[in-house]
Formats: sequence, C-alpha cells, structure tokens
Amino acid sequence: SIELRAVNKNYLDNIAVIRNVDLQVKQGEFCVFVGPSGCGKSTLLRMLAGLEDITSGDLLIDGKRMNDTQPANRGVAMVFQSYALFPHISVFDNLAFGMKLAKMDKQLIRDKVQAVARVLQLEQLLERKPKALSGGQRQRVAIGRAIVREPGVFLFDEPLSNLDASLRVQTRFEIAKIHRDFGRAATIYVTHDQVEAMTLADRILLLNSGPAVLTEGSVAQCGSPLELYHRPRNLFVAGFIGSPK
Ligand code: ATP
Ligand code: MG
Repeated sequence: SIELRAVNKNYLDNIAVIRNVDLQVKQGEFCVFVGPSGCGKSTLLRMLAGLEDITSGDLLIDGKRMNDTQPANRGVAMVFQSYALFPHISVFDNLAFGMKLAKMDKQLIRDKVQAVARVLQLEQLLERKPKALSGGQRQRVAIGRAIVREPGVFLFDEPLSNLDASLRVQTRFEIAKIHRDFGRAATIYVTHDQVEAMTLADRILLLNSGPAVLTEGSVAQCGSPLELYHRPRNLFVAGFIGSPK
C-alpha cells in the first residue's frame, strides 16, 4: 500500500502547489486523481515516484517511510503521457532494459518479455525500433516496461491522452485488466477524462485549484465515483463531476 500523511509541496518560488494531502491506496485498489489543469496531479505523482522532493509530510510504501528513497528503490513504476522509450534499441530491449541492468537470468528475461508482449499484443513487434511503431504501439511498450518490473505501485500520468478514441478505449481495458491480473499492486492514475475516471476508479481524489485561493492543491473530496456523484461535498465537486442539480 501507499500512504501520504499531511503532504505539502512548494516549488522553489515558494508557492504551495500541494496542501496537506492525506491518502492511502491499498494493494489491489485503483485510485484516480482528477482536477483542473495545474491543480497538482502530476506533482503528486512525481513525489510518489521520487522525481520531486516532498516539502513536508510523510510518504510510506508498505508501511516504510520513503521520503528520501531513490526512485529505483521504491518498488514504483510510472507511465507518462510521453512514452520516453529508448529510441536506438528494439522493443524487446526496451522491455528488458531494467532486468538486464539487474543482471537477471537471460531465459527468465525472455520469458517475462514474452508474457508481457502477449498481454499487450506486441509479440510481432519485438524486433522493431520505437520509431517504426505507431503512437498506440509505443504507449503499449511504455506500459509493458512498467509491468515487467512487477511493481507494488503503478503510477499512470494521463497515459492515453495521445491516443485516438478507439485505441484509448482498448488500452483503457488493457490497463484495467493488468490491474486485476496484478492484484497486489496499488494503482494511481491521473486523467482529464471523466469516462476513464468513472469506469476505472475504486476511488477518486479530486484536487482543488484556482490561483491565489488558499485551498489550491488540497483535497476537495476523496471517495468512490458514486459518492462524489451523488453526495458532492460542495459546488466545486458537483460542477467538476457533473452531478445533477
Ligand atoms: P495538468 O492537468 O495541466 O497536467 P497538473 O494537475 O498535473 O496539471 P502540475 O503539473 O502538478 O499540475 O502543476 C501544479 C502547479 O505547479 C502548476 O501551477 C504548475 O505551474 C506548478 N509547477 C509545476 N512544476 C513546477 C516547477 N518545476 N517549478 C515551479 N512550479 C511548477
Ligand atoms: Mg499533469
């Protein structure tokens, strides 16, 4: 599980972008972050991944404090909107990269890459370089690269926003399936898409925003999709979720 306790973030200009966020996401749980552009969703994910310092508060993964742990040692895998694949090596080598670094057994690496390639329909593409793939195929390689690490925590930052509508739906189903099949992972997923949020989430965390408002970057409401829809805490939540008046 992953846990945030009273987490705050100020960037160097000292403006608070995350305020006093408490959150626990348990193993097997799928939590979706939503909120207006600039409210701090990516900042929160990057702090979980270790790509950004936490200004104050605690981050615990499986009960251990991880504020200062290197990204590679957190058991966390992150998928970004821009896929960030290595352009000069094959799909196979992109998927195998972390395992090769860890000097895992060659046969084991091949087996794991094959298994992930099967799930994501990449089997015919393993010898290709990323530039010879479509956007959707590249995004599936990026997702595959996260899966092969068998992380305890999956972080997705708008992973489908570069895909066309039909591929977006298909890949959304794949992500839901991966989460089910890797039932021990805690998944956090950032999206702007209401349908994605409502269909994927066990729980939705909505962040406040608005320049010069003292609640910016704080939790507006956190609960199941139905809870936010039927019992929004205030007008901001109701408006954002599209609750009936
Ligand atoms: P979007 O939906 O547009 O992706 P977001 O919710 O992911 O937005 P963040 O990228 O987390 O928002 O940014 C939150 C706030 O922090 C914004 O006001 C942004 O301008 C600011 N910010 C982000 N990165 C930095 C940085 N490196 N230095 C200073 N301010 C930053
Ligand atoms: Mg963002």
